Amino acid sequence: MHILVTGGAGFIGSEFVRRQFATDATARITVLDKLTYSGVEANLASVAGLPGFTFVRGDICDPVAVDHVMAGQDVVVNFAAESHVDRSIVGAGPFVTTNVVGTQVLLDAARRHGVGRFVHISTDEVYGSISEGSWTEEWPPAPNSPYSAAKAGADLLALAYHRTHGMDVVVTRCSNNYGHHQFPEKVVPLFLTNLIDGRTVPLYGDGGNIRDWLHVSDHCRGIDLVMRGGRAGEIYHIGGGTEMTNKELTGLLLAAVGADWGRVEYVEDRKGHDRRYALDIGKIRTELGYEPQVRFEDGLAATVTWYRENRAWWEPLKARAALES
Ligand code: NAD
Repeated sequence: MHILVTGGAGFIGSEFVRRQFATDATARITVLDKLTYSGVEANLASVAGLPGFTFVRGDICDPVAVDHVMAGQDVVVNFAAESHVDRSIVGAGPFVTTNVVGTQVLLDAARRHGVGRFVHISTDEVYGSISEGSWTEEWPPAPNSPYSAAKAGADLLALAYHRTHGMDVVVTRCSNNYGHHQFPEKVVPLFLTNLIDGRTVPLYGDGGNIRDWLHVSDHCRGIDLVMRGGRAGEIYHIGGGTEMTNKELTGLLLAAVGADWGRVEYVEDRKGHDRRYALDIGKIRTELGYEPQVRFEDGLAATVTWYRENRAWWEPLKARAALES
């Protein structure tokens, strides 16, 4: 099976690629990645020499580049996106361009080339916020940030290509991921690396926003199940990690590095900040036998160790991001 992975140099995409090769040394994978600020080619160093691996630097919004890499592919897994909510509040342009237009360019090329399956990676954030209970796949999108609105637009477009053109499209929507190789602007690596450096961490609002945390390896296992066994035209939730407030998460991160609450700065809440996300994962569990495997305590401990041991990975990324802002 030839798989085109877009955004494969990012946090989740690179884990997906490494995992595919770990389970099948004969996998044939092409990564198309623009290497934006969050794309790190070195994330793929462990697979770079494998005969089945090809890396192409290119933009999913560029029809010529996309057409070139689409030839001969059996499956597309579309991770490429602008992914940080805070950046989408500062400027929505790149989010609409990459997340919506880029997905359309990919869908058109996949259709032209008769690609067998298009797996579109999305997020629980498309549903907005829920105070009690959890969303099933039937809930209508009601996004609140420019990031989630652009993701919802892309999801709807992907599903429309299934209904209009009969393309084999599946959409996954996952909860918050954590783990190694996550760009140090997202809350877990931002807080960890600040704390490791003896600095403070900025906690939004009252810290009461609730997220469901899933280890990146569990997300990628879920995507693999959907890619191989999901039904065309369907949405699948991937989650079932650990629900907690940002304040609880902060407490765990402080404890993990031996710091106290004096290192926490309460800052003005994020605009339009969703209070709670919660996914019902009954569908993927029943249809595809999915169950998360990494206990949060274990995954977090491994993540802390990884960031402690891989300063050479995150320090230049943080320095570059600081220069940009
Ligand atoms: P990331 O920011 O770490 O990686 C994104 C990758 O896409 C980078 O390698 C970047 O260079 C690449 N990219 C960006 N624009 C591109 C373009 N125009 N053309 C080609 N490549 C481009 O993001 P991530 O956290 O790995 O997220 C991957 C996907 O998973 C996204 O679609 C995101 O919406 C979704 N998702 C993320 C989470 C999470 O908690 N991180 C949860 C659910 C869903």
